[in-house]
Amino acid sequence: MMEIRILGAGSGMPDKDLHSSSVLVQSEGKTFLLDCGDGCSYSLTKLDLDPDALDAVIITHYHPDHVAGVFLLIQMLYLAGREKVLPIYLPEREQDFGDVLKMFYTFSEKFNFELRLKPMTSLTEDYPQMRYALNDHLQGYGEIIAKHALKNRQCAFSIRINSKAGDFVYSSDISSTDSIADFVEGAHTLLLDAGHPAAEQVWKMANRGLKRILLTHRPNEQIRQALAQKPDNQFEEAREGSIYRI
Ligand SMILES: [Zn+2]
Repeated sequence: MMEIRILGAGSGMPDKDLHSSSVLVQSEGKTFLLDCGDGCSYSLTKLDLDPDALDAVIITHYHPDHVAGVFLLIQMLYLAGREKVLPIYLPEREQDFGDVLKMFYTFSEKFNFELRLKPMTSLTEDYPQMRYALNDHLQGYGEIIAKHALKNRQCAFSIRINSKAGDFVYSSDISSTDSIADFVEGAHTLLLDAGHPAAEQVWKMANRGLKRILLTHRPNEQIRQALAQKPDNQFEEAREGSIYRI
C-alpha cells in the first residue's frame, strides 16, 4: 500500500490556510518527501516521525514555494539527532546548493548524518521504483538566464513512484499538461498542478487511464467552480493534511 500525505497544497502566493508544496509518500517500507515548501518541517513535527524516518528528499525545481523549507528541514534533522544518510535529489546546480548551505552556516561537519546532494539523474539508479520527467514549467526564463549568463538549466521535474498497488505521479508545477501526458499514462493517482495550466489542459488528463486526479497548487477559479457545480468521480481538490491511499 502507498500513503500519500499532502503537507502543502498552496501555491507560490502564501495563503492563510495553506502551506507551500510538499508531499510525504510512504510506500513499500520507504518514506519520501517530494518538495519542501515553506512549513514542511512544522507539518512533519506534528506527525512525530523519527528523525531517521525519511529515506530521501526530492526537490522538483528551485522556485521558493518548493525549496524554501529544505533549509529548516536539514537544520531540524541535525538538531533532532538524525544518523541515517540523507540523499537530497536536486533539479540542477548541486554544487551551488551546497554553497548556499555553507552560507547559511549549515555545516555538514556538525551533523551526525551524511548529507548527499545528488542530481536527479541518480534517482532511478538509487530507487528503481521512481522515475522522473522533465516538464515545461521553467521554459520561459531563457532570455533572463542568457542576459545574466547564469548557470540555470531550467530544470523542473515530475515524479512517478511505482508500487504493486498502483503508481502515484506528482506533476509538481507545469505550464501545460501536454508536457507530462505520456508520463502519467496508466498511473492510479495523479497529484496535479491545477494553478498554472489552463482549465481545458487540466480536464484533458481525464483520458489518461488515471483512477484519481487530485488538484493542488490552489486550482484556478474556473476549475473550482466547475468542480463545485458538477462533482466528478475522477477529479477532486487535494486537501492539505489528508492522506490518500493506493
Ligand atoms: Zn509552485
